[in-house]
Amino acid sequence: MRSVRFVTYGCKANQYDTQVLREALVRRGLAEQDREADLVVVNTCTVTAEAGRKARQLIRRIGRETPQARIAVTGCLAESEPEVLRTLPGVDWVLGNGEAKRPVNFLRELGHEVDPEELGIPAGVTEFAGHTRAFLKIQDGCDMACAFCIIPKVRGASRSRPAEELEAEVARLVRSGHVEVVLCGIHIGHWGLDLGSSLADLVRRLAHLEVRGEDGELLPFRVRLSSIEATEVDDALLEVMAARPERIAPHLHMPMQSGSDAVLARMNRWYDRATYLEACHRIRARLDRPAFTADVLVGFPGEGEAEFAETLAAVHEAGFARLHVFPFSPRPGTAAESMHDRPAPEAVRERRAALSEAADAVAQDYAARLEGARDTVVLEGFVGLSGRYQRVRVEPDALEGLPRAVEVTLHREGDGPGFLGLHPRPVA
Ligand code: SF4
Repeated sequence: MRSVRFVTYGCKANQYDTQVLREALVRRGLAEQDREADLVVVNTCTVTAEAGRKARQLIRRIGRETPQARIAVTGCLAESEPEVLRTLPGVDWVLGNGEAKRPVNFLRELGHEVDPEELGIPAGVTEFAGHTRAFLKIQDGCDMACAFCIIPKVRGASRSRPAEELEAEVARLVRSGHVEVVLCGIHIGHWGLDLGSSLADLVRRLAHLEVRGEDGELLPFRVRLSSIEATEVDDALLEVMAARPERIAPHLHMPMQSGSDAVLARMNRWYDRATYLEACHRIRARLDRPAFTADVLVGFPGEGEAEFAETLAAVHEAGFARLHVFPFSPRPGTAAESMHDRPAPEAVRERRAALSEAADAVAQDYAARLEGARDTVVLEGFVGLSGRYQRVRVEPDALEGLPRAVEVTLHREGDGPGFLGLHPRPVA
């Protein structure tokens, strides 16, 4: 095999896993190629029924359109339904998370006898080509048991990567030109529990990490936390975030799932509505206008109109900068699969629309509060993402000679979702 194509579904952790394989295979001499590749690696997701359906559909299409290609299916779907995948035309390997996570194992499964030394692979990755933001997986697995979620079954218990390894990887990514590193995983709030440490310790280390370029100059970069549970944003973490807002983005993606205590209990979530909202208030008291984003599931079994109204009210109270609304779909193998009392599809559609409308309104309110704020923008061209997760445009003339990470004053452009970044200057 001389060439390889990668297709990735799902979360940031999955995209990171693909990058680990990509770097190993390219080091092994395979050229990355979009069409006519000898090997196609499809890294799958099983978090929703839709994610699984899309992956199966694509695999069938690859098998039909490029019958000469050999297909390796990896990721969570490969773990949860290997038998189904093995029957698809063109599929040569179905490698679950245990087999495919380490490149050496992956290559051995494909019939390459490899010495890890020979590959010269540092732990982790060196770049995310074509992206300003790089993902860094700091842990894998989850110890919880949410009723709707199959992930703990396919990724196992939480395992943290050592802090020293992560610091070295951040330095590598920054030297490769990435000015934002997103810490991701499956349950990042549990980072360090198996190492006698905590996420706050790791974030503190990264907040003070100095990365220098070839000429000894300090390279600016920012760290963003990806999804973290509201109950795991503790005072120690907030202290670091408050002290270094230009290094640690004041943005927290905290899955809410529902604003109804009854539904949260059925979901086997470990907090109630008051605890979630109290976390939002506590964080807001410590950080300057932090951005909250969240996931909400609509149509979970037992969600009636009253429960949904509680979710709607909670969305207003939390004041999200952005909300991802997902309709519930039962996954085989989860506790929710056998739960009754599912709302009618029509009701779920209406609730989803109502929630999206409410989310737009609260996002507008949040954006209005940012007028005049100074924030760091990581640019791709003249447009970038601020620390508070806002889209910001900077006038090309003002950017001459400036790096890709600049500090700007936010100014709203009309009633739309975007900002103009005024008075850009390099991040100190
Ligand atoms: S916390 Fe819950 S939703 Fe998140 S990965 Fe673990 S079991 Fe799944």
